[in-house]
Amino acid sequence: MAPEEQLRVFQEIEEQGLELSAIYHSHAHTAAFPSQRDVDYAFYPDSLILIISLMENEVPQIAAFQIENGKIQKKAVKLIEKK
Ligand SMILES: [Zn+2]
Repeated sequence: MAPEEQLRVFQEIEEQGLELSAIYHSHAHTAAFPSQRDVDYAFYPDSLILIISLMENEVPQIAAFQIENGKIQKKAVKLIEKK
């Protein structure tokens, strides 16, 4: 997201009393684990960080983390496939 758009979305979330429950991004060539950059930019400790790894093309891996003060905590995540 562009920074201005991000700011606008965060203002909307606040105005409407919503909660940012998760932020997701993908890793094209690395595992589903936070990079140093992810840790450095983890500004929302109350939100889950979902990372989808596309390292193994056939089977995308997904993992959830909480990052607070540079500390990475892995969280359980359950995927429900809708047919
Ligand atoms: Zn990342």
